[in-house]
Amino acid sequence: MNVVAFGMSDQGRVRGNNEDALLLEEGLGLFVVADGMGGHRGGEVASAMATKVLRDAVAGSLAGGGAFLGTVDQRYSREANLLASGVRLANRAIFEAACSNQSWQGMGTTVDAVLLQGNRAGVAHVGDSRVYLMRDGDLRQITDDHSLVAEQVRQGAITAEEARLSPRKNVITRALGQWEELDVDMRDVELANGDRLLLCSDGLTGMVEDARIAGLLGAHPAPDAACRALVAEANTNGGRDNVTVVVLEFQERKGFVAGLKKMLLR
Ligand code: CA
Repeated sequence: MNVVAFGMSDQGRVRGNNEDALLLEEGLGLFVVADGMGGHRGGEVASAMATKVLRDAVAGSLAGGGAFLGTVDQRYSREANLLASGVRLANRAIFEAACSNQSWQGMGTTVDAVLLQGNRAGVAHVGDSRVYLMRDGDLRQITDDHSLVAEQVRQGAITAEEARLSPRKNVITRALGQWEELDVDMRDVELANGDRLLLCSDGLTGMVEDARIAGLLGAHPAPDAACRALVAEANTNGGRDNVTVVVLEFQERKGFVAGLKKMLLR
């Protein structure tokens, strides 16, 4: 399966800095979005640490070495387990950095990571950033938000619409850097020709409804055009948060040249 990947991160229209981070490592088949939080630039530090530790962990493991933290969950692929271990390592590194530096106290970050192997994508997820699968024109969120309102929706206490409008929708219940141990969600996706994966921070989903995201992905088949359209829409709707998007397009076509482009807007 060939992949065309594009990602971009934008500060938005309100925030004075960008605490999101993204990583596109075509050689490793690794793609990551992280949304940091914390004062004194702690958010930027945490999201940057998450992507770096995860990259190094995956590169080390694929090279035959590297540390593995935690236990292998046999229900999921090697790729998903490698990512989960990398996220646990990143969690520990951020937690220790936060404990050793007063100004970084309490810093944390979300992580959504995809590792490709053949026709399969392993996914690891913590927090309220999201991964969506776009298949045959249908958009489906394939990660569960670790947020207070999402948990209330899952318990049936409030509706999805009430969650979207809630003043407490930014309260997240799981993030890297908060505790020494971390529970990481995993899943595997068997990819089909024409599938697209979207990784994004809540600066997109807080500003743009799922139906509109699906419409923009449908109108812009190329990953770079899709990313630009999604970021522009979030900013048009107010851009109240940093917005980061990564779009991966999968093609079985022979002779297709895999391309990778990155853009970081400040
Ligand atoms: Ca955010």
